[in-house]
Amino acid sequence: GAYAVGAHLDPDSTVAVLLDLSGRVLRRQRMDTATGSDPEQLVRLLGRTVNGIITRAGVPREKVLGLGVAVPGPIDSGRGVVLDPPNLPAWHQVPLVDILGGATQLPVVMDNDATAAAIGERWAGGADRAGSFLFVYMGTGIGGGVMLADAVLRGDSGNAGEFGHVLVDPGGRLCHCGARGCLEAHAAPYAVLAAFAERHGRAAAESLGLSLDPGRTRTDWNRLCTAAARGDDRAVEALETAAGHIGRAALTAVNLLDVPRIVLGGEGLRGSEGYFRRAIDTAVNSWSMARRVRTVSVLPSLIGDAVGAVGAASLVLHGAYAPGWHM
Ligand code: BGC
Ligand code: ZN
Repeated sequence: GAYAVGAHLDPDSTVAVLLDLSGRVLRRQRMDTATGSDPEQLVRLLGRTVNGIITRAGVPREKVLGLGVAVPGPIDSGRGVVLDPPNLPAWHQVPLVDILGGATQLPVVMDNDATAAAIGERWAGGADRAGSFLFVYMGTGIGGGVMLADAVLRGDSGNAGEFGHVLVDPGGRLCHCGARGCLEAHAAPYAVLAAFAERHGRAAAESLGLSLDPGRTRTDWNRLCTAAARGDDRAVEALETAAGHIGRAALTAVNLLDVPRIVLGGEGLRGSEGYFRRAIDTAVNSWSMARRVRTVSVLPSLIGDAVGAVGAASLVLHGAYAPGWHM
């Protein structure tokens, strides 16, 4: 058989997987993505990680068709360059495809992470097998991948579907992209935690076990969600506020795209998925212009946590990516 490697570069931690042609994950490895460190060095480390996975899996290198990498946007897909992702402050114009091609000697293809996730989901038979859906990816930031009648919507430069930067609150919180009031700045875990601390004070946050240390967003997020599950009013309110914003952004997306499905995935959903699903369901099915034609279903990803990496590998296996192959 043949194989492909996929990697998802997330600001918190990068995951790499080796898949066979049926989409089975044979190996998976995680590495730390310390945001402060030198991006090119990190990419070279990723290259070595990929080489290591192939060696340890005992797979002949010539059977590995390529490496797909899913990255947060914005990207220059034609040149294979990561521009300046809002949640990777040290990254500016990193020639990811060239570096990885050199380090692995594999054909490398790059795509936006949420777009890759949508492709992976489709390939794995998710989204109720619908050929049109929006994939909402909640990682460190919030992303969107759009599949319309089985075609991937990439836009003119590879940056379509930037769901996390839909404006939800004019003049609202400052987003890491530089704009104010983006969905991500109101609903990504780091942002919800920051807003919680501002609203209720440090002591209240600490009483829920929140460290408010930016390096511990995941743990803090789990604690906030646990507090909400216990019925803590402030935690519930924080999640519902974030969910409301996501719902309104999803309504905008459904009105623009007329998709019959929304799929949710990513680690930022752990503990909050119920809130987000309900809010999206209510918003789109109460107010979208197509609501009298059909109901939009809101589903969890079939693939789960590693959806970005699996999606990236599926770019290779599926040949989903025609332009921009780099050797
Ligand atoms: C980026 C998106 C990405 C998302 C999830 C956002 O900040 O703008 O391109 O899909 O984070 O990683
Ligand atoms: Zn933004």
